Amino acid sequence: MIGGGIPCPICGTRLQLTLDFIVEHSAAACPKCYSIMQFPKNDVLFEEYKKIKSEMETLKKQIKRFG
Ligand SMILES: [Zn+2]
Repeated sequence: MIGGGIPCPICGTRLQLTLDFIVEHSAAACPKCYSIMQFPKNDVLFEEYKKIKSEMETLKKQIKRFG
């Protein structure tokens, strides 16, 4: 699972990448060895993620309204 910090494939440094970051950016650079990592583009996952995120936003707004 993504979340607990995935290691850089080159130098093994733990990268503080969140799922948010990976979904919104398709690549990241390692802060230690500066190698660029490309994330596999997964449109199905991306759409699913966006959907869940917007549902959560809607829920949050509803909670605010009733709270
Ligand atoms: Zn690295």
